[in-house]
Amino acid sequence: MLDLKPIPPKFSEQEITRLLLVSYGIEVLVLSDLGSYVDQNILVCDLQGNKSVLKIHDGVEQKEVVQLQIDAAEKISQHLTELQLPLTIKSKTGNEIEEVRNASGQKHHVRLINFVEGDMLKDLSSFSDRLLSNVGKTVAGTDVALENFYQPAANRPDIPWDLKNARKISKLSQCIKNPTQRRLVDYFFMKFDNEVESVLFDTRKSVIHADLHRYSMMVNTEQTAVSGIIDFGDIVYSHTICNLAVCLSDLMVGSDDPIATAAKVVQGYQQKSPLTEQEISILHYLVCTRLAIYVSMAAYTAQSDPSNEHSQLKEEQVWKLIRKLIQVNPIRAEEAYRLACNFSSLLPVYRQKSEDNLKKRHNMFSNMLYTHYQDPLHVTGGAFHYLYDDQGNTYFDCVNNVSQWGHSNPDIVRPAQKQISRLNTNSRYVYDLMTDYAEQLLATFPDELDVVFFTNSGSEANDLAMRMVRTVTGNDDIVVIDTAYHGNSTACTEISPNRIDRPGKPGLPDNVHSIAAPDGYRGKYLEGESELGEKYGNEVVSVIDELAKNDKAPAAFIAESLVGTGGQFVLPENYLKTVYQHVRKAGGLCIADEVQVGFGRTGDHTWCFESQDVVPDIVTMGKPIANGHPMAALVTKRAIADKFDNGIAFFNTYSANPVSCAFGKAVLDVLENDKIEDNVQKQAKRLFSGLNRLKEKYDFIGDVRGLGLYVGVELVKDRTTKEPATDTAKWVIEALKDRYLLLNTNGHDNNIIKIKPALTIDENDVDYIVDVLDNVFSLVN
Ligand code: PMP
Repeated sequence: MLDLKPIPPKFSEQEITRLLLVSYGIEVLVLSDLGSYVDQNILVCDLQGNKSVLKIHDGVEQKEVVQLQIDAAEKISQHLTELQLPLTIKSKTGNEIEEVRNASGQKHHVRLINFVEGDMLKDLSSFSDRLLSNVGKTVAGTDVALENFYQPAANRPDIPWDLKNARKISKLSQCIKNPTQRRLVDYFFMKFDNEVESVLFDTRKSVIHADLHRYSMMVNTEQTAVSGIIDFGDIVYSHTICNLAVCLSDLMVGSDDPIATAAKVVQGYQQKSPLTEQEISILHYLVCTRLAIYVSMAAYTAQSDPSNEHSQLKEEQVWKLIRKLIQVNPIRAEEAYRLACNFSSLLPVYRQKSEDNLKKRHNMFSNMLYTHYQDPLHVTGGAFHYLYDDQGNTYFDCVNNVSQWGHSNPDIVRPAQKQISRLNTNSRYVYDLMTDYAEQLLATFPDELDVVFFTNSGSEANDLAMRMVRTVTGNDDIVVIDTAYHGNSTACTEISPNRIDRPGKPGLPDNVHSIAAPDGYRGKYLEGESELGEKYGNEVVSVIDELAKNDKAPAAFIAESLVGTGGQFVLPENYLKTVYQHVRKAGGLCIADEVQVGFGRTGDHTWCFESQDVVPDIVTMGKPIANGHPMAALVTKRAIADKFDNGIAFFNTYSANPVSCAFGKAVLDVLENDKIEDNVQKQAKRLFSGLNRLKEKYDFIGDVRGLGLYVGVELVKDRTTKEPATDTAKWVIEALKDRYLLLNTNGHDNNIIKIKPALTIDENDVDYIVDVLDNVFSLVN
């Protein structure tokens, strides 16, 4: 159990005055409270005008720890003679430590210390480069002073502020009420667990002050160097690098460029106490860990002792910094700190590796596997809607059709990590996760869709759907939209006109029939016409009639509930209702492909087919179902599932394994707990209003359309002819990438800019997307 000690002692003025007189022979003129997180600190001014500080340690502080603080301050004062330190003044009886009991008899250690004069760093409006470098030197100086200083009391295994305890303290993030903020903090705790802790374990150790920041460092009158340090309460035997990390985390608060600020401090530190490359490699995430602990402890304290305001100092600014740091590519931070310490740059090494990778890809893989962008992106990490490359750049990722809940979302990664370390097997065994997850998934569907089959990809789900509808109806023919894409297996390619029914391509097989895409922008019937959905829906009648002439009937109609790859358009009202009626009347089944558009993407509903007010016979889903882990599913009605059960077993080695189910369940938990659909509606409204503003400004924007956070911006050469502006779209995508915004194109002519951000984005993110688009559009000529 960690020693969280959130409640400082509260002795009265009367008690303190008496104590000062009896133990120290001081006649008090004025007492003032200095505030503290755990101790009671009182500024004492005696009748002669001398100042000192009475420190009443919190009730559980051991005497050995108090002595440690006294001796460490003494040691530093011998080494850094220019610094003022809170050295201990002996009592009348010659003791450094006295005792006092509160009304309920609890014993507290007390000591009187020098009052350290001067302005605190916190009183400065900004920090000069010289000051930052000198702060680094002071921090290093304290580390050098304490290098060979050790007392057993410095082993304080339960101190929450010791960064090496981060794993233990991380559960306090649960006290953070705002889910977005809590997730950011959990992301940094996850980085500590996975990327810092084991490296930290091998770094040098010493007794460290562990709490050097703007509230514990005084500055000289020229404001160029530290003149004094106070508050040894967190002193601990830990990893030496943690002392610097704590200091950096504080000095970065309020900085426009926190990494540059930190690098100045690191540079100063290095001059007095050289850092190792290993220490530098974990410094960034150690700083982030410290901030995560800070806000978690603040949230915990706010819950357990709302009157203790000390912990909530500058909390808003700390959140601002945390939001900034999530955007910092850890390679950029490491590079800045390496250069500050005169270590060589790692970027050329990474660049070379990336070039080698590309050559190897060409040698080992087929050309069919192409990469995005002229200069392909070598990605090294991700955090929510940010992607990091190997050169220290951070990109805003707006192509999140898989990582719909953000890259490395800890709410999803953590449960999956736990499960993979516990059990992974196959669905021929019985395990709770599979039934729990299936129950939770089915609960998101209308009641009649009550049976689920799990697969590993959207293609497999659609493939299974093809087998199912043919077995159940006894028919063979499938009807599709003429721009559709439904996957890459043989059966799915056959029902994907987008891939095979184009000039120069083989065309659809005889048993697959396409109908006009219900595209109100450039289709057969246009937006504004009456009964658009019905008109497009009736297109299926001629196919059914044609089949009937040969004594055939459709096995199924399959369509995305908002057409993605096939043109990025919203189905007109009553479209699915009309088609479903005709197809069902002819004995066929209706399949909704929700691989791209499910799980809250379109905002108003969890499933996009709900926006068409229909209930399909079969729904297939994939992509965001497990936020990047290969999983997909097919949901259908009991009667269909039973009829499909013709004696041929359905088994899929990996599908619904416990780890996949843990991923899937975590996704549904995020969807429910975070009220994702509300966020999608809110942000979509803002995004559409921003994009429509751009449409008024730029006449090459032919159309802005979509539902929720699945949006298409169609670029045309001319609004009347609607000639696709494919080259412009291509140029725009590259120019956006140069400005660190990742988007791609969609549609037959690749002239539709597809915007599919993570569903967890906020207003600032939406404004950023619109601003960058505006900037790039303004350069189109
Ligand atoms: N259906 C649709 C609508 C898709 O967009 C895709 C993939 N882009 C698939 C099915 C196939 O999914 P997967 O790539 O997981 O096989």
